[in-house]
Amino acid sequence: MNILLIGIQGCGKGTQAKLLEEKYGWKHITTGNLLRENIENKTELGMKAKKFMEAGELVPDKYVFQIVEDALLSANKGIILDGFPRNMEQLKFLEKNFMIDNVILLDLSDEKAIERVSSRRNCEVCKKDYNLLYNKPEIDSVCDDCGGKIVQRADDHEEAIKKRIEKFYQDTSEVIKYFSDQGKLIRVNADLEIETIQENIIKKLEL
Ligand SMILES: [Zn+2]
Repeated sequence: MNILLIGIQGCGKGTQAKLLEEKYGWKHITTGNLLRENIENKTELGMKAKKFMEAGELVPDKYVFQIVEDALLSANKGIILDGFPRNMEQLKFLEKNFMIDNVILLDLSDEKAIERVSSRRNCEVCKKDYNLLYNKPEIDSVCDDCGGKIVQRADDHEEAIKKRIEKFYQDTSEVIKYFSDQGKLIRVNADLEIETIQENIIKKLEL
């Protein structure tokens, strides 16, 4: 099954995707992680993308297409797309070679999203994720696992988050309508416990 998870930042797409990946063996594809890998490895593509991400802007499609194509080619079972396609141009690119079976929209208010995302931190060394709201390290700013320094990503500040939410609505409302018209859209409340959200997704996918 090929599914698309959609929702504003902070809605918990990544967490839900990971759980589905573990349970069903579908490949979790996120442009965010693919881009970050490229930046860490200082690839040409990564260096171009970095400028946009630091300014709180979305990376242009032509760069995103390149990395998504590579990731899709290596997937054979099911796919969980997370944060892509977010606009009609990306959707057209995707549908040339791939068929989306179901789209799950994780509903969350802007206020909740900003609160959650601006509280995110991660370890500089081992990359472990933290959140100051519900998953704090035992010692302030120090990673529980490796003792590394815990930092905030340059693009997780309130102004940058607001900008991305606004852009999300501008671009993605058309994509949401497209799948809704096809009867493929499933709405799930994202302001619940992680396990409850997962149960609701599985129930609605009739797995
Ligand atoms: Zn660490």
